[in-house]
Amino acid sequence: MRIAVVGLGMAGATLACLLHDDGHDVTVVERAEDPRPVGAGIWLQAMGQGVLERLGVLGDLRAESRTVSRVAIVTASGRRLVDLGYDALPGAVPALGVHRGTLFSLLHREVLARGIPLRLGVAVTGVRPSPTGIAVETAGGDLASYDLVVGADGSRSRVRWSLGVTARDRVYEHGALWSIVRDPDELAHDALFQCLRDTRRYLGVLPTGRGRTSLFWSVRRSEMAGVVARGLPAWREEARPLAGPYADLLDAVDELLPATYRDVVVRTPYRLDGPGLGAVLVGDAAHAMSPQLGTGTSLALADAWTLAHTLRAHARLQDALAAYEHHRAAHLRWYQWWTRLMMPVFQSRLVPLAWPRDALAPWVTRVPGVPAALIGTLCGDRTSPWSTWSPPGEPLPRPLGRPRGRRLS
Ligand SMILES: Cc1cc2nc3c(=O)[nH]c(=O)nc-3n(C[C@H](O)[C@H](O)[C@H](O)COP(=O)(O)OP(=O)(O)OC[C@H]3O[C@@H](n4cnc5c(N)ncnc54)[C@H](O)[C@@H]3O)c2cc1C
Repeated sequence: MRIAVVGLGMAGATLACLLHDDGHDVTVVERAEDPRPVGAGIWLQAMGQGVLERLGVLGDLRAESRTVSRVAIVTASGRRLVDLGYDALPGAVPALGVHRGTLFSLLHREVLARGIPLRLGVAVTGVRPSPTGIAVETAGGDLASYDLVVGADGSRSRVRWSLGVTARDRVYEHGALWSIVRDPDELAHDALFQCLRDTRRYLGVLPTGRGRTSLFWSVRRSEMAGVVARGLPAWREEARPLAGPYADLLDAVDELLPATYRDVVVRTPYRLDGPGLGAVLVGDAAHAMSPQLGTGTSLALADAWTLAHTLRAHARLQDALAAYEHHRAAHLRWYQWWTRLMMPVFQSRLVPLAWPRDALAPWVTRVPGVPAALIGTLCGDRTSPWSTWSPPGEPLPRPLGRPRGRRLS
């Protein structure tokens, strides 16, 4: 098929490689003129690692990442709420903390190595049926027409907007200011650390590989500009009581950059226009959520893997896209639901929610079975309390190497 992938992000770059390897005629259309390795640290779970192994980039990624095998959450008063290791779930493979730019560079390298045509500096405004296929629209007119257009254009997807499939799209009131700092002594070691002051502030510390650590400062969107304008010394003073053993890292911060989060749900991730023509969404374009559970990139890679498989397995496009939706539904629903549930408890103005959270969390997280269930959800492949997502088709190389839960296919 002639396929346009709109967006050279994590989902788009991965999918373009998988589709090219299956013999499709793929073009990537990207808004940025000069896509560069930008962003903060991301948390990559074993499921996403499996897809990257298939592309042959996991070894290089590991060399530039930090293994994150523990999650520690404390309150500003020093109460330990959560202290969980991935070893609570037998066979669970720890996450990788990595700079988004590092992963982007590796995927970009793979796209270039395959000679996949890139249309850079082209901001897509929408898609629509045309006599020759699905036209990709830009402000300057139609770019070209394709059999299939994949919207991999992130949380503010124009492709999603033009398909008219959005059921929910709202910006969270809270986001984060972030910075990547040098951490040559690897203070952050192997733990994702969060220190909470009720529900309105937290400091997050994520080891990011190559002697770097990402810091996240939870703040309302409306307050971000004010925090930045007051300057770094004022911010450090506010953040220091939450920094615990990582206080030295605050001094290494030289800028704070804003990140905002959306909650996006689509009714169905695709539209067809007659036999053999259609458009489909992957990654944040299909299901943006807040990064509370750190699964955004892993879910995007699972989308790419699944869509490539269903296009391979079904002769008719409509069957392939219906199978794609089916394979992804339970998995996405589980993470959207949990993320929405956790957001007010960790980032909101609902301060009274912090009281039961702080009182109960230390006890609940020690109840037998709960640590394993929590780590199972963090691993990114849950579909329900008793089942995990199983990639369709050929099994992914499993850094996990463990059977757990009933499998959905
Ligand atoms: C610049 C940037 C920085 C990020 N930093 C972080 C971070 O620090 N931590 C984190 O957890 N997540 C970050 N993310 C989000 C994270 O990459 C995604 O949540 C996740 O990896 C899912 O990937 P995706 O491919 O669906 O979307 P994205 O990675 O967001 O990729 C979408 C791509 O589509 C392109 N695009 C958007 N609109 C159009 C358009 N109209 N026409 C053509 N191309 C378009 C974008 O330029 C981008 O390359 C960042 C995303 C971007 C784009």
